[in-house]
Amino acid sequence: MDASCLTQIPVPLPVPAPRRSLQGVVSWGDHRVTVGGNAPVRVQSMTNTDTADAVATAIQVKELAQAGSELVRITVNNDEAAKAVPYIREQLDRMGIHVPLIGDFHYNGHRLLTDHPACATALSKYRINPGNVGRGDKGDRQFAQMVELAARHGKAIRIGVNWGSLDQDLLARLMDENARRHQPWDSRQVMYEALITSAIDSARRAEEIGLGRDQIVLSCKVSGVQDLIAVYQELARRTDHALHLGLTEAGMGVKGAVASAAALSVLLQQGIGDTIRVSLTPQPGEPRTQEVLVASEILQALGLRAFVPSVVACPGCGRTTSTTFQELAKQIDDFLRQAMPVWREQYPGVENLRVAVMGCIVNGPGESKHADIGISLPGTGEAPAAPVYIDGQKVQTLRGDTIASEFQDIVQGYIERRFGAGA
Ligand code: SF4
Repeated sequence: MDASCLTQIPVPLPVPAPRRSLQGVVSWGDHRVTVGGNAPVRVQSMTNTDTADAVATAIQVKELAQAGSELVRITVNNDEAAKAVPYIREQLDRMGIHVPLIGDFHYNGHRLLTDHPACATALSKYRINPGNVGRGDKGDRQFAQMVELAARHGKAIRIGVNWGSLDQDLLARLMDENARRHQPWDSRQVMYEALITSAIDSARRAEEIGLGRDQIVLSCKVSGVQDLIAVYQELARRTDHALHLGLTEAGMGVKGAVASAAALSVLLQQGIGDTIRVSLTPQPGEPRTQEVLVASEILQALGLRAFVPSVVACPGCGRTTSTTFQELAKQIDDFLRQAMPVWREQYPGVENLRVAVMGCIVNGPGESKHADIGISLPGTGEAPAAPVYIDGQKVQTLRGDTIASEFQDIVQGYIERRFGAGA
């Protein structure tokens, strides 16, 4: 053996940087969701129903919560919406869905929360956009009114700054200051500074008014991946408030999912971010829950959380001329996801299960052995047999047209034995 092998330093194991934010709680009744500090990074989502339609909104909140959203934001934009909020809460409680609701306010939040105390009570958190509370002294008064209401009702707030609705007075002031600089900053840097200053100054005012630091979450959303990374790295350097991450207006489908994953992954790996939302534009016919799925997958792919058993499937290649393994991988994935709302209660820990569905003998047996349970399907020209591996050992070989259903039964049996009450 080469002596240098013995002195070689091993590749460090991957460890995401620890988060440095304060921990707080967003609760509804006895249902407490810890946010920040060493709490798990939380998945948040937002409805796109008309909030005034209490039934449609309650149904969508339920769907989002069942998909894994731990906090759900709803628009509260007028009196009808504010009146509907307590009914939405009531219906959710009746269905056993205790997910905290966040009210999204712009322009008139101070008035809606004052005129509709039942709405102020039913919400667990108020989102306040400092760029949309009004300008000058009037804006300061209206901001203070919302913060006072949050303090009085014992609610958390999110100071949600967005570059599409930046505080124009602040931006103008920073632009003037920049013009007087010996070496003016790039206009993007001025915008970054305006976003961060708006969030931090608003948080300081909220604390002066009476909210605890741990009741305040900050966000500074932009739609560019590199801009988001730059802004949040600096925001995290300047404050220990819990941070909500999201690429605003991420876009549709693959583009939106990839852009969000790219931006959020870099920050999460650096220990930045306590709640996340993926702002996907739904494609026609696509369920709203898609954004929850993508957010959960980002956290699961980074190894920060586990939500559903993961299915490792090979991409297929010229060695697989049939679509059998693609269909089986999809069937297993659908089967596991659909069963999760029940399994979560019935089989604690099942979300950590790893299942492999592989297309041929090249990587099939090896990858299947690494998984808790795996199957290696026959590639083109191989004998029509599919060995099944459990905990690294080959346990049986499936043949014929019923491979999919038989494998599903084997997975179900394994889950019962390993995660069931008697395990
Ligand atoms: S496991 Fe086999 S079928 Fe799948 S990608 Fe690798 S070589 Fe191709």
